[in-house]
Amino acid sequence: MNSLARFLNKIKKDYLFYFSKLTNRALVAPDMLQIMITTKCNLKCQICDVWSQKFNNELTTAGVKNLIDQALKMGIETIYFTGGEALLRPDIFELINYASRPQSTTTLNTNGSLVTKDMAQKIFSSNLDSISFSIDSVSPQIHNAIRGEQVFEKAIKGIKYLQNLKKENGQRKNSRKQKLDINIASVIIKPNKKELFSLAMLARDLECNTISFQPIVYNGNLLKSADLISEYSIDSEDIADLKESFNQLQKISDKDFIVFLMPEKTIQYFQKQKRVNTCFAGFNRIFINPQGDISFVCFESFGNIKKDLLKKAWQSKKANTLRGKTKKCTVNCTQFCSERPTSETLRAIHLNLAHKIKNQSRLFKRIKNKLKKTS
Ligand code: SF4
Ligand code: SF4
Repeated sequence: MNSLARFLNKIKKDYLFYFSKLTNRALVAPDMLQIMITTKCNLKCQICDVWSQKFNNELTTAGVKNLIDQALKMGIETIYFTGGEALLRPDIFELINYASRPQSTTTLNTNGSLVTKDMAQKIFSSNLDSISFSIDSVSPQIHNAIRGEQVFEKAIKGIKYLQNLKKENGQRKNSRKQKLDINIASVIIKPNKKELFSLAMLARDLECNTISFQPIVYNGNLLKSADLISEYSIDSEDIADLKESFNQLQKISDKDFIVFLMPEKTIQYFQKQKRVNTCFAGFNRIFINPQGDISFVCFESFGNIKKDLLKKAWQSKKANTLRGKTKKCTVNCTQFCSERPTSETLRAIHLNLAHKIKNQSRLFKRIKNKLKKTS
């Protein structure tokens, strides 16, 4: 697809998502298929209990491939592998390779502790487009207290191995995809409320492409322990520090290093304020758990990929009923993947369109000037 076709396709999607939400119907394929390919994890982070969830009937390699085929046929562009620790799946690279097509983007998140030199080589040589490392603090002590001994050091080494491979090799051999984006994902918690800027600087020093910040989610272990909540949750007295950190962060995002952050929504979330529902969870992604249940992440499933066709389930009556629920949901959650700012309102679509046209015409002008100079 050339750049004009891509541009038009994006705009068309912005409208279709807007009308999908308005009419409560899936008029367009979701942006993303998120496959939780395992709950197994080599860590037992304090803020998570995914590792304790056991599925004895995880999807097989053939099952995941069939799911990927169906998703790509529907027009889904991003295939996101998550866990648990996705790198524990012995077939992970086979699956990434399978999902990698010219029109698709593959992405994976990891705690980074398994990214040895050998593993980095496998990641680099694969067709993966983007990898995200979980790093919650610039202080090894804080990070390791949450995630486990030496996890910080291993994750940082893992990023460096990958960056070195990128530098040494330039283009990736035996891989269809030339570029591998390396990113950091951080959870906003009380212990790091003052160091978000330093985390972004760490990501920039490590030559990462992006850093994303998401507030801690109150589930799993956190729901079981008041002590953990008071240790990690942001309280009203922390809000001023957080706002200060957000101000600093907003100044450093540019085209070479992007900071993903939702400052207002994050503050609202920690202040437990009610908010206008801007969630597109029923429209912009499909979540599959290790045993194949199909859902919008929240609320119950509306099928299972072992017996249902993905498209049929996506367009089913049950899915539409659940879409109604997601539209009414007032949970103050800040799941990035549930947001679609460019489809929220017609005004947002038109502003984005105007912005894109302006950028395109700037680009055309620059090319024209260059051509003038060289002729
Ligand atoms: S947060 Fe991630 S790395 Fe930590 S236990 Fe949960 S799944 Fe594993
Ligand atoms: S819980 Fe979050 S992602 Fe789910 S429907 Fe509510 S706002 Fe959307």
